[in-house]
Amino acid sequence: MRRYLVLGGTAEARALAEELHALPDTLVVSSLAGRVRRPRLPVGQVRVGGFGGPAMLAAYLVAERFDAVVDATHPFAERISASAAQAAELAGTPLLVLRRPGWTERAGDTWHWVDDLVGAAALLPELGERVFLTTGRQGLPAFAECPQWFLVRCVDPPEPPLPARHELLLDRGPYTLPGELGLLREHRIDVLVTKDSGGPLTSAKLDAARDLSIPVVVVRRPAAGPAPVLPDVAQVVRALTESADHPGRAAGD
Ligand code: NAP
Repeated sequence: MRRYLVLGGTAEARALAEELHALPDTLVVSSLAGRVRRPRLPVGQVRVGGFGGPAMLAAYLVAERFDAVVDATHPFAERISASAAQAAELAGTPLLVLRRPGWTERAGDTWHWVDDLVGAAALLPELGERVFLTTGRQGLPAFAECPQWFLVRCVDPPEPPLPARHELLLDRGPYTLPGELGLLREHRIDVLVTKDSGGPLTSAKLDAARDLSIPVVVVRRPAAGPAPVLPDVAQVVRALTESADHPGRAAGD
């Protein structure tokens, strides 16, 4: 029996769990942080909640005799990715990272790259007055002092502090181009702020911004760790199954 731990919270993590679950003699446990009130659950076993840091995650990897761990968390979930890297090292468990590629600027786009949310907030005065903010609820304090008006879209209601002038839109996607165009027009948005999350599920806002010549502030991804990074589910499944003992090497490590 092969045993895999998938650190999840993304659509790719659910797809990976489904693929692994379908393999013979394979047990897959998906781990969720427990942040979202009604998470979309993957198939197979699911555990919810933090591990208590890298040492505790390492102890869990050893106790549950996982053959490999896949970090399929969101590209901006920095702490769990760092924790997974340390834990895998401590436990001697092979680690693969499943990370969807970032977005690429296309003709007609006006993108402004920044390193973090504070950098995004600092750019707003020169770009617009009515902001579509799609960076998730956790980083909203970075915009709390901004005088602009914000359409804030996130999955669950955020905690204060929030920008003084805002409207909240609770939604989780996937989003369509007509829907995003409608939102931008209805709220007379003149600047979009996004993380470079990548993937097709939330990219329609970028197409809509291009169509309406709206500038986009894009927050760069945090740097990747030392483990092999694979861009899609198929490559992770291949790496895990082709080289059962050494998935890192199969991925070109
Ligand atoms: P984070 O800052 O990297 O992690 C904070 C802590 O939450 C971690 O140290 C860990 O606690 C726990 N944790 C995070 N992901 C976990 C997982 N999959 N399983 C078990 N524990 C986990 O994470 P975040 O940015 O708050 O994201 C939380 C979850 O939401 C992630 O699973 C991520 O994939 C998903 N998500 C994040 C974003 C985003 O923009 N950040 C967007 C969409 C989805 P311990 O130290 O106690 O182990």
